[in-house]
Amino acid sequence: MKTRFLFIGMGMVISMLAISVILFTITDEPWILVSGGLLTVCAIAWLLLCTRFFAKRLSLFTKGLCQTMDRMINNGEKPVQVGDTETIFARISYRLFRLYTIMQENRRKVEEERQELQMLISDISHQVKTPVSNLKMVTDTLLEKPVTIQEQRDFLQGIRSQTDKLEFLFQSLVKTSRLETGAIQLEKKDNPLLDTLALACSGIVYGAEIKNISVTVQCPEDLHLCHDSKWTAEALFNLLDNAVKYTPKGGKICVSVEQWEMYVKLDVTDTGKGILESNQAAIFRRFYREEEVHEEPGVGIGLYLAREIITQQGGYIKVTSEIGNGSTFSVFLPWN
Ligand code: ADP
Repeated sequence: MKTRFLFIGMGMVISMLAISVILFTITDEPWILVSGGLLTVCAIAWLLLCTRFFAKRLSLFTKGLCQTMDRMINNGEKPVQVGDTETIFARISYRLFRLYTIMQENRRKVEEERQELQMLISDISHQVKTPVSNLKMVTDTLLEKPVTIQEQRDFLQGIRSQTDKLEFLFQSLVKTSRLETGAIQLEKKDNPLLDTLALACSGIVYGAEIKNISVTVQCPEDLHLCHDSKWTAEALFNLLDNAVKYTPKGGKICVSVEQWEMYVKLDVTDTGKGILESNQAAIFRRFYREEEVHEEPGVGIGLYLAREIITQQGGYIKVTSEIGNGSTFSVFLPWN
């Protein structure tokens, strides 16, 4: 800035001197030379004054800007907004204010993610604690006490079931985290819904047979829907698996499909124990299990994962249930 002012000043001085000399040579009047010189001196003085004034204003402005930005960065302080004018200060202040809003939003998101991570870690440590302490107890007993062959078999069976639980927990966590972070992208394609249902049902045939539970599926053969078949089957399997787990021997499970204008509605209905109304929202939370089901295998991640898969495809899940009369989990999947 200073160099530019000096450059302009030099140009002005040289032009004024040159004009004065030319006029003097034409008129031969010495007062022209004197007044030309005086004019040049005045111009230099005003130019110097202007340069100082602008330099001071600029340095004040830069100082203020730096202070505001420092306060924004260090203390998250809100910048002062200049009125609705079109000056350069107002324009900069407006942009600073926008930057501040974006920074605040990012801070809020980071804080939210930090809290979620903390909760997840404490949930995982809580889930892992029981199987690990069981494993320690069983191995200590095996190492320190004389046990019969039968007891040895029972203990090894216990070790096996605890490691299965840990493996299942680990795999479910990897799946949910990959889905949540977008590492796994669902691929929606036009697929027959019956194929997806068949895939989901194949996983529960054995369990249902052991408990003598009848499974009926009502779905039109030619019904095509744009969805990720593999992951939707996984979500439906989780619902069906729960239906088998929480339905007593001799019960019934019915899968039915309805075609709505915007969605295809898939109902998984069982004649199981039912879910208290006060628990119906909580059961979709990660690691949530009702008190009374602790005898049943599971870690409380099935419904959470199912909801994640369905929401990622633009759909949703809801539950209606009555204690003692069974439950219906309804999956709504959009046509496209
Ligand atoms: P998990 O079955 O491993 O406990 P889920 O996330 O699949 O975990 O289910 C969470 C809880 O919801 C279960 O612990 C159970 O209390 C309840 N629940 C889920 N499905 C049913 C069902 N069909 N009937 C009764 N209760 C159910």
